[in-house]
Amino acid sequence: MKNVPICKGYRETEMCVRCAGECCRLQPGHCLPSEFGSAAAVRAAVAGGRYTVVLLLDAHIMARVVRPHYKDPARTAGCIFHEDNGCELPWQDRPYGCRMLRPRERDGEHCEPEGISIVEAARMWEESGYLPPIWACSRLV
Ligand code: SF4
Ligand code: SF4
Repeated sequence: MKNVPICKGYRETEMCVRCAGECCRLQPGHCLPSEFGSAAAVRAAVAGGRYTVVLLLDAHIMARVVRPHYKDPARTAGCIFHEDNGCELPWQDRPYGCRMLRPRERDGEHCEPEGISIVEAARMWEESGYLPPIWACSRLV
């Protein structure tokens, strides 16, 4: 686990404006348990339809993580908070994984996720006690 303050992160850049949120059009960023603070808050967020629980499942991990729901659930694509003019959430309310994506500086480079990875976040979620039993998962990624 990396020791990264929760409030740390990157703001949108001119590159983000030019690329029109390619990251947001692919997959929502992951949240950390500390962004919710209780099982009740997670339940309310998921019941409200704007957040969901996804399951990371492969030979190395079976763990869930909370993040915004898909813009297009049928295609498991995009983020529900992504609008034509960008993210509708204030920067400080965006998921940890969104704030910790370092925008590329030049065309042809990659934007780099920093800090707590989605796999590490999923392990934190399983240890948080905020999630219902694992059979209640709604999505595989
Ligand atoms: S972080 Fe990268 S992919 Fe996301 S909007 Fe900025 S430049 Fe585009
Ligand atoms: S919450 Fe905002 S920044 Fe994060 S993926 Fe969704 S639209 Fe993008």
